[in-house]
Amino acid sequence: MSLYIVSTPIGNLSDITLRAIEVLKTSDLILAEDTRVTNRLLNYYGVQKPLRAYHDHNKEKITPHLLEMLRDDKNVALVTDAGTPGIADPAFYLTRASIEENIKVIPIPGASAFLTALVASGLPTDRFIFENFLPNKSAKRKKILESMLSEPRTVIFYETPHRINKTLLAMKEVLEDTRIVIARELTKVHEEFLRGDAAFLLKHFEKHPPKGEMVVMFNVRIKNSETEQM
Ligand code: SAM
Repeated sequence: MSLYIVSTPIGNLSDITLRAIEVLKTSDLILAEDTRVTNRLLNYYGVQKPLRAYHDHNKEKITPHLLEMLRDDKNVALVTDAGTPGIADPAFYLTRASIEENIKVIPIPGASAFLTALVASGLPTDRFIFENFLPNKSAKRKKILESMLSEPRTVIFYETPHRINKTLLAMKEVLEDTRIVIARELTKVHEEFLRGDAAFLLKHFEKHPPKGEMVVMFNVRIKNSETEQM
């Protein structure tokens, strides 16, 4: 019948809409990236529905079966480990396949880490670009950062704690005193926003080793000044 793209919290379990819970409770099948993560959410909200893994490693194999279910009048809800499915996760594959089969795709809006981070960053929010994760290879990462030097919009990307220092070193070289905002552990107990240029943030992480999930943002028009750090 319909494929529901259901947004779930990015940390705080209360950040879910009433409609999302209703859709999860009335679906014939829930697809999740990591079923253990999603099970915690479903238990919290008393949702008891069949749950199946849908991730990068099995998406091609199981999509034909899912399309058959959808054609067969079943409602399927697709969720991700955190936030909005399709943003830096494999949901796009099933969404596109469903549209090609004329199956109705219904989005259920909710949290997404990049938008949550942007609105409290203090950087311009009128125009922005989302770069997902930067490439793993340091040369490619640096090249992308260099291409941003003429980018007037606020740039947002996802980063991991084990790679952030390497990325900041590249940012120090390329972006110099551009203000960088790192939003860490959004909606969780240890939520924090770090603001400063790359050199300042590198020093900060020497004292407080980087932990948790993070979003990195900057706008090349906004430079840092000592007095405005943090
Ligand atoms: N679908 C998710 C969304 O809508 O934001 C993103 C999934 S992506 C695989 C995971 C990345 O999102 C993390 O590595 C981190 O960069 C970012 N992220 C997710 N939850 C976050 C949080 N609570 N605080 C900061 N960043 C978060």
